[in-house]
Amino acid sequence: MMLDGLYQEIILDHYKHPHGRGLRDPFDGEAHHVNPTCGDEITVRVAAASGEFSDISYDGLGCSISQASASVLYELLSGRTASEAAGIHDAFVALMQGRGQVEPDEDVLGDGIAFAGVAKFPARVKCALLPWMAFQDAAARAGVDVSVAPEVKA
Ligand code: ZN
Repeated sequence: MMLDGLYQEIILDHYKHPHGRGLRDPFDGEAHHVNPTCGDEITVRVAAASGEFSDISYDGLGCSISQASASVLYELLSGRTASEAAGIHDAFVALMQGRGQVEPDEDVLGDGIAFAGVAKFPARVKCALLPWMAFQDAAARAGVDVSVAPEVKA
């Protein structure tokens, strides 16, 4: 219960003080995703011309989980190479789809571990994953495939 409270604090902190928010130029790929069950919307842009995600920018509206998740995504994935980003992306998706049974690795997921509790609530999993799926699409449009994790995940 104490951990749940701490996790909630982390999510609310990202929601109130989002990192890297706002759409920026230049970018190589953009995607807009909506989560109709909750009303969340997110637009994600990636700059990946150099082979790494030199910038990830986003804007959106919706519940605290969806918007905090975008802030955490920015923090975790910007500046990463394609393969590093793929590994982290894979770990976050696995955590969210684990129905609360996956033990998160803080070394990989940082503040993303705060979403471990959300994984127990299927309706909210879509909120948490929304920015990550938009990122995956935006990256694909920039010519970078992050849907598979080559060597990062054991
Ligand atoms: Zn939501």
